[in-house]
Amino acid sequence: MALIVQKFGGTSVADAQKIKRAAQRVAQAYKEGNQVVVVVSAMGRTTDELFDLAHQITERPPAREMDMLASTGEQISIALMAMAIHALGYEAISFTGGQVGIITDSRHTKARILKIDTKRILQELDSGRIVVVAGYQGVDAYNNITTLGRGGSDATAVALAAKLKADMCDIFTDVNGIYTADPRIVPEASKLEKISYDELLELASLGAQVMQARSIEFAKKYNVPLRVRPSYNESLGTLVCQEAKEMEDIVVSGAAVTKDEAKLTIRGVPDRPGVAARLFGEIARHNINVDIIIQNIGSHGMTDVTFTVPKDDLPEAVDVAKRMKEELKAQEVSADSHIAKLSVVGIGMRSHCGVAEKMFSALAQEGINIQMISTSEIKISCVIDEAQAERALKAVHKAFELHKVGERTGVRG
Ligand code: ASP
Ligand code: MG
Repeated sequence: MALIVQKFGGTSVADAQKIKRAAQRVAQAYKEGNQVVVVVSAMGRTTDELFDLAHQITERPPAREMDMLASTGEQISIALMAMAIHALGYEAISFTGGQVGIITDSRHTKARILKIDTKRILQELDSGRIVVVAGYQGVDAYNNITTLGRGGSDATAVALAAKLKADMCDIFTDVNGIYTADPRIVPEASKLEKISYDELLELASLGAQVMQARSIEFAKKYNVPLRVRPSYNESLGTLVCQEAKEMEDIVVSGAAVTKDEAKLTIRGVPDRPGVAARLFGEIARHNINVDIIIQNIGSHGMTDVTFTVPKDDLPEAVDVAKRMKEELKAQEVSADSHIAKLSVVGIGMRSHCGVAEKMFSALAQEGINIQMISTSEIKISCVIDEAQAERALKAVHKAFELHKVGERTGVRG
């Protein structure tokens, strides 16, 4: 008998009808002879609405009370899901995170799971019940309700699957699976049958909002077999797994473009030891996440430094940079929020060369100027003008023939 964790995201339980449909999937898996643990998110936009409500009361709601409030969304879903399963003639029992032994640290609104006591879940599964667990929440050592950050139901599902050594963790969502690029921008994008944890992690942090990035890291660490699949049809979606030999033949498996970063340049920075440490130390102290950094070769004792930060943090980053300009006796600070970051991702890059050249040529042919470049083992990113983002994504998708890649991942090894 296999143990399966099925997670349903907010859109898959957005109304009574959808909850009933999800319950049928659960019942189906149970009927096939599996033990089933169901993790649900809050219905539709419930969590957003709860956040709005809190902010209508006060600009800065205490984090502990935010968690008390936000966790109620999932409590509605578990009760309704358990009822829907009952109505189909199966036994189900719902639990909040705390009731089911999900213990977290005390960092309200962004807590991390420390341990899970699975005794109760196992008892219920053994007595033949389907167990329904509220995603996104736990309790700390003092029994305060905590939440795991936005999108945290994925973390609940993956952590439960790891702890219970589940045979599969199905992430049901409102897309068909993982694509070689966002199909709304690139209609020829192909669905990947299979992707490695590392590639998905890169794509998720590039704004492909399929799963919470932290939960993918966790799945990788504990080798949890995952499937990202649509809740509205029978497709198996995309399998997310450890990289396999044949995956290396696919040099690039996906491309993505994000517009949520901005670029900052400080010109005429004195070229001497300690300056970068001082500047980026100050930026970090303000909790601003820097992504790409470029420092030019200095001349006449001066250099220029350009870096990207999340767009939301740009005003604060500019303030810090202006203060640092004074302190370091630099010449000028300028900012540009009309940029986009285009990236290609693939584990095959480790063993193939010429990837960067192909990407740059594709952009050159479109007359698209590259402002910054950064690379990692399995990713190449270029910063370009925001207005050219979609065209650039299409060009790169075509250059790497990504429309054919989905098919090639079809052979499941
Ligand atoms: N309901 C929470 C959110 O919207 C958790 C989740 O959906 O995974 O962020
Ligand atoms: Mg959600």
